[in-house]
Amino acid sequence: MKVPDKIRTNCPSCNKHTTHNVKLNRKGKERSMNQGRRKFEAVKRGYGGMPRTPKKPCYKIGKRTVLVLECGECKKKHQKLFAARTKKTVEVG
Ligand SMILES: [Zn+2]
Repeated sequence: MKVPDKIRTNCPSCNKHTTHNVKLNRKGKERSMNQGRRKFEAVKRGYGGMPRTPKKPCYKIGKRTVLVLECGECKKKHQKLFAARTKKTVEVG
């Protein structure tokens, strides 16, 4: 699926329709020394390690695609859920 890289849509801060630059929302890289990771590593140490049951196979197949829209006038960003649970790959361009 292709999404145009410029969309004319409502800007919540300008409160009118303006052209927006479109980007895909990507998950950032997790820091290896964050608080939750350090706690988890501490719990996992030693005998009887794994505190959580392994994850069951999931019935949700597709992924949610979130677009990041940047307003051309005020340069503020807001997000829009583009395709809720689709298997198709979404690309901007
Ligand atoms: Zn705006």
